[in-house]
Amino acid sequence: MLIVMRQDASQKQVEDVIKAVEARDCKARPIPGGDRVSIAILFNKQALDETWFQELPGVKQAIPVTRPYKLVSRETRPEGTRIQVGNVTIGNGRMVIIAGPCAVESEIQAMTIAKSVKEAGGDMFRGGAFKPRTSPYSFQGLGEEGLKILAKVREEFDLPVVTEVMDLACFDMVEEYADVIQIGTRNMQNFSLLRRAGQAEKPVFLKRGMSATVDEWLMAAEYIMAEGNSNVILCERGVRTFVRHSRNTLDLSAVPVVQRESHLPIIVDPSHAAGFRDQVIPLARSAAAVSANGIMIEVHNEPEKAMSDGVQSLYPEQFELLCRQIRAIEKILKDY
Ligand code: PEP
Ligand code: MN
Repeated sequence: MLIVMRQDASQKQVEDVIKAVEARDCKARPIPGGDRVSIAILFNKQALDETWFQELPGVKQAIPVTRPYKLVSRETRPEGTRIQVGNVTIGNGRMVIIAGPCAVESEIQAMTIAKSVKEAGGDMFRGGAFKPRTSPYSFQGLGEEGLKILAKVREEFDLPVVTEVMDLACFDMVEEYADVIQIGTRNMQNFSLLRRAGQAEKPVFLKRGMSATVDEWLMAAEYIMAEGNSNVILCERGVRTFVRHSRNTLDLSAVPVVQRESHLPIIVDPSHAAGFRDQVIPLARSAAAVSANGIMIEVHNEPEKAMSDGVQSLYPEQFELLCRQIRAIEKILKDY
């Protein structure tokens, strides 16, 4: 149930509604909106009757939320969520371009790539310091040293940084350095990690599990929001199918479905979907065509020497051309 307060409702009226909800053994979560406050009712053990709340002073409307994900549902915030990260706004109609290497390998590598990302018009920098690798013998990331390098990138190029948190043990440390905390595909249903992310002060970038349905993915986002963090960015990064020509299959149909079902912004990562650089470029362009809120692209100055995901990493020149194409597609969609 969502209780929509009147525009002129006082703080005291909002508090009284919260008390009325709690008196029925439920949790009330106020959601500040542009011009009015809404209050989501969570953890109800039985069906709620809207007439219980409808007549309370300051209440405009009590609306039953029909979806299993409540805070994530577009019913809760029909106008859509905008997330501010430094100077970058995600969800305001302009595609946000996030780019960088799969992993931070050294200061010189990260700085060199960040310079190209910045010059090409990228909005944010990505790079893993803790890497979830299939093999325990593969490069696992630089850990805190990698996070410190990311902080230098932010400082030097004025680019907010996105980096992955792999487990609870490194959470505090990642939270301290990151501007956006990434939860990877392998952790999408790591519920204790999701809960911890829900208590974080920073926005969370939640990748779709490689075999997750859209509903499961949105329920994972609900875990984060239910803990109080409403800054969740969804990321479609391909799902596992039977095909062999690509690493995963990019599910672009998830973009309009998520935008219909949820108010949260959705970014497309064609790099991890495709697995091969020649597929990344056309898929990135199509992400713009389906009006995703942004893209995440792996870029490397020397992909053949990359310690992870070199085969799918774009050369800086390719990335620069891609950025121009993305902005051109965006313009066409705005003009028509
Ligand atoms: C990544 O972005 O570096 C990554 C490991 O992605 P995913 O979780 O989508 O595989
Ligand atoms: Mn990668």
